[in-house]
Amino acid sequence: MHDVVILGAGMAGMACARRLMLRGVRPLVIAPGHDVASRGETLSFRAEPVLDELGWMDLLDADTALPCAGRYSLWGSAALRRDDQQEQSGWHVDRARLEARMTATLDGVARLRGEARRLSHAPTHVTIDLADGSSIDTKQVIDCTGRAAVTAGSQAPLRRNDRLVATYCSFALDDDSDMLAATLVEAVQDGWWYMTAMPGGRSLLCFFTDSDLLPAGLRKDAGLWAQMVSRTTATAARLDSLGLDPGNVELSFAAANTAAQVTMVEPRVIRAGDAATAQDPLGSNGLATALWSGLQAADSVMALRDDDDSVAARYEQRFLEGIESFLATQHAMYAAERRFSDAPFWQRRHASPVFTPPD
Ligand SMILES: Cc1cc2nc3c(=O)[nH]c(=O)nc-3n(C[C@H](O)[C@H](O)[C@H](O)COP(=O)(O)OP(=O)(O)OC[C@H]3O[C@@H](n4cnc5c(N)ncnc54)[C@H](O)[C@@H]3O)c2cc1C
Repeated sequence: MHDVVILGAGMAGMACARRLMLRGVRPLVIAPGHDVASRGETLSFRAEPVLDELGWMDLLDADTALPCAGRYSLWGSAALRRDDQQEQSGWHVDRARLEARMTATLDGVARLRGEARRLSHAPTHVTIDLADGSSIDTKQVIDCTGRAAVTAGSQAPLRRNDRLVATYCSFALDDDSDMLAATLVEAVQDGWWYMTAMPGGRSLLCFFTDSDLLPAGLRKDAGLWAQMVSRTTATAARLDSLGLDPGNVELSFAAANTAAQVTMVEPRVIRAGDAATAQDPLGSNGLATALWSGLQAADSVMALRDDDDSVAARYEQRFLEGIESFLATQHAMYAAERRFSDAPFWQRRHASPVFTPPD
């Protein structure tokens, strides 16, 4: 019987494992072995205190992270503007490299390659059934499985707020390219574009829209993607200035909608990261939240081992308050763009930021 099993080895799972390890507990981490998709994530400066507590600030170096040089936006007006408050002191991270470095700091933490399929509760433990047919018993589970949220179900329904999806591609920059490590965000009729530098001489281009507004045929036709890019202003100009051809790329797709659990803490199960709340990437907060909640989930488990449930209750309370604040900020950001108020994408976001009932 294991004491603590962490499901998932993204930022939330690893922050949780590292915190437990530093406090003398050796959890078992269960996650599939496949690579993390490179989506050009920006790690907010808000993550700094957690990285510091975990002894991870040194992991942000030239191989894993590029310091952000601010954010430019075409949002709310046709003029390109520099946003001073956003992402000024964050990092553009190479998640695969950063997560590999984080894994290397987990001395003595066992990792099992596997995929959790189902959890069943017994009075003294939880049984985790894995995809390969085996099962594992543990006293406590921390669900860090991201949007898959394996512990979600009829008892813990997900509240979904929208149908945002991301379509993205990456480019290798020329050695002599002088791309500024700044983010560019551009609002258009059906959504918004995001372009950023990544460590390792790469750049990422991403378009966010609702799944029902995604042009039919995009999955098979990069020419369609190039046409969509050509209708932008600053994004097309930036690609052009860097000599990057959006017609010759491989597209990837990912869910990017906001979805939250109603509870973060249940008997023998605690959720962290996207498994607890997945956020629309507009605010660039997902990674910082994953790190913070992974650490909090670990502290909650430590207290629960001493029959103290106050830390877990406080964690859940802070998380739920954070979701309300995040939704209000997100609503204000979308409300700042009024040029396309006849378009469904923007009309949906100008409506009240209240969660839709679970499916
Ligand atoms: C297109 C896009 C752009 C984004 N941009 C940003 C950004 O700029 N800034 C930012 O802060 N955030 C951004 N985010 C959000 C950010 O990526 C997530 O919030 C963050 O990765 C969540 O970390 P996590 O550890 O909770 O989950 P994940 O990183 O998704 O990790 C989940 C882990 O669980 C494992 N797993 C899944 N299913 C199972 C299972 N059944 N059993 C066991 N293990 C399982 C996975 O293999 C993985 O190891 C973006 C998201 C998207 C989609």
